[in-house]
Amino acid sequence: RAKQQGRNTYQWFASDLNVEANERVELRNDLQRALEQEQLEVFYQPMVESRTGKIRGSEALIRWHHPVRGLMSPIQFIPLAEDTGQIIELGRWVLQQACRDAVRLLGLGYRDHRISVNVSPVQLRQAGFVDLVTETLRQTGLAPELLDLEIVESAILYDTEQVVDRLRKLRELGVGIAIDDFGTGFSSLSYLKIMPVTKIKIDRAFIKDVISNRSDAAITQGILSMAHHLSLDVVAEGVETNAHAAFLRKNNCQLLQGYLFARPMPFQNMLEFLTTQAVANAPHGTDDSSDG
Ligand code: C2E
Ligand code: MG
Ligand code: MG
Ligand code: MG
Repeated sequence: RAKQQGRNTYQWFASDLNVEANERVELRNDLQRALEQEQLEVFYQPMVESRTGKIRGSEALIRWHHPVRGLMSPIQFIPLAEDTGQIIELGRWVLQQACRDAVRLLGLGYRDHRISVNVSPVQLRQAGFVDLVTETLRQTGLAPELLDLEIVESAILYDTEQVVDRLRKLRELGVGIAIDDFGTGFSSLSYLKIMPVTKIKIDRAFIKDVISNRSDAAITQGILSMAHHLSLDVVAEGVETNAHAAFLRKNNCQLLQGYLFARPMPFQNMLEFLTTQAVANAPHGTDDSSDG
């Protein structure tokens, strides 16, 4: 009887795996179609200067309008795309779209608006990645100084020498390198020594309870102090409350990003958001957003 039960358990387990495998195959095929049928869209989330409340840039975040499942978050398909290699094509598309949109913003007079693009470790392990960025900048006409590439610490876990060499070349082009989700990786501090980094993004895991949790506050202050000594820019991710923003402003965190200001949104909405902000920040405006 026990044996029978054991077998049933095993069968359930096996059929669960099958369902999961089928689902992955299906999703992979869907994603191939998505790339061909323009079901993907780049959303943007602004980064706000803590001192002035002005929008200094935005992060490109991919979304998938799946014909059956609806709007899908990248956490539901980026890992799969990394496994199947589809991230290469997808990443190329996001980079090009983001650079194009950045040039559109320039054309509308937002002269110093920076664009951040997430880059997968899988993309960075490609020998042609530096050429891809160079070519995309040339094609779109975006100044390299306005582009930041966001990478996670694990990006240099494998093929470290080649990846670091590619990052150096990108820096030489003028492109900025931001460490995303900073503090959640394995050895943040030693990586900082070998990575040609210009910006750190403090992971939202530290910001969430920064007001109530002493360790989170200490870690955040420590990261900020270290970043200042290394002359790196800092962005706090996941800023959701005025208390978060006030704490970060007090501790000289230059840039803030989070639902308090705006959720990621389509490019068109971002344009409207920028217009509203420009009015709010105009010298004759009555709404002074830089109080603190
Ligand atoms: P990430 O790069 O760390 O992006 C920040 C994530 O936090 C975004 O989720 C954003 O919507 C979310 N977020 C922003 N502010 C807040 C807040 O105040 N509270 C909370 N709870 N969340 C906030 P999203 O858009 O779902 O993206 C998830 C992850 O997917 C990204 O994390 C990034 O690792 C990856 N990703 C997104 N777009 C791309 C892409 O084009 N290429 C690659 N390789 N990865 C991407
Ligand atoms: Mg990011
Ligand atoms: Mg992040
Ligand atoms: Mg993340």
